[in-house]
Amino acid sequence: MTGGPPRACVLGWPVRQSRSPLIHRHWLATYGVDGAYDPAEVRPEDFAAFVRGFAASGIVGGNVTVPHKEAAFALVDEAAPSAAALGAVNTLWLESGRLLGANTDGIGFLANLDEGARGWEGERSVAIVLGAGGAARAVVHALAERGFDKVVVLNRTASKAEAVAALAGRAGVAGGVDDLPRWLPRADVLVNATSLGMAGKGTLGVGLAGLRGGTVVNDLVYVPLETELLAQARARGNRVVDGLGMLLHQAVPGFERWFGVRPAVTPELRALAVADIETRA
Ligand code: NAP
Repeated sequence: MTGGPPRACVLGWPVRQSRSPLIHRHWLATYGVDGAYDPAEVRPEDFAAFVRGFAASGIVGGNVTVPHKEAAFALVDEAAPSAAALGAVNTLWLESGRLLGANTDGIGFLANLDEGARGWEGERSVAIVLGAGGAARAVVHALAERGFDKVVVLNRTASKAEAVAALAGRAGVAGGVDDLPRWLPRADVLVNATSLGMAGKGTLGVGLAGLRGGTVVNDLVYVPLETELLAQARARGNRVVDGLGMLLHQAVPGFERWFGVRPAVTPELRALAVADIETRA
């Protein structure tokens, strides 16, 4: 065990795209915490040894990004319910010598909507999620926990939609993107959890005919901040929420665990992240 200030990191391969250092370093400075947060580019084959060496390196925990989230889940001594449900960990910390893990993407997703569109749940009747990748898993689980009657997962690959819809238990419904027009008029919230709409990935290209005026539309993509889906919904007069707040809010629990201060997601932090997106995009 090394002495000195607590250190945390983000583990990824590659990791230079991660905005986690920007977020956590801002909070370290804001709250005057004597600590450090660094990117750690770790190959999949080195991941387990790196994490097992946390204590010896003075590392108190870290964020986990692609492609290590499932490997992190396999390594923890104890998984929080969020991580156990998803089989993936994005936040690691040491507690009395044990390695613990949680998945905070669902917390970030809900906090972003709670902050960005009060009352977004509507009747908690129908939530539509486009996509069935890692991010969709967290979103679908979170929507079911919020009490939606139906969480409708629509995806290009049908088998994946079924597996992800199962995370919502009895509320889960699986389908293809062709089913969207049928569900749109019933939706309280529509979420894009595909990678389409992201700079360089092509547009989602779905029509919103039939969408009710009160439906809130959320895109997990945040580069660009205003995706074609959000622009289309905004033009119809619907409330929209971009994906940046999810990224900022999912970081809160980790910082609190590692450094002992619960940080706030402020307009100042958002402005920093927006500037970074505009510079790097
Ligand atoms: P992923 O696991 O790779 O899943 C990608 C999803 O997009 C799959 O459902 C895939 O469908 C679909 N897709 C990709 N290309 C497609 C195409 N050409 N046509 C139709 N569907 C297509 O990615 P992820 O980790 O879930 O991330 C998804 C998005 O969420 C990314 O843009 C990521 O940046 C964003 N995200 C944001 C946050 C945040 O904090 N705001 C957090 C996590 C992720 P198939 O199953 O058919 O391949």
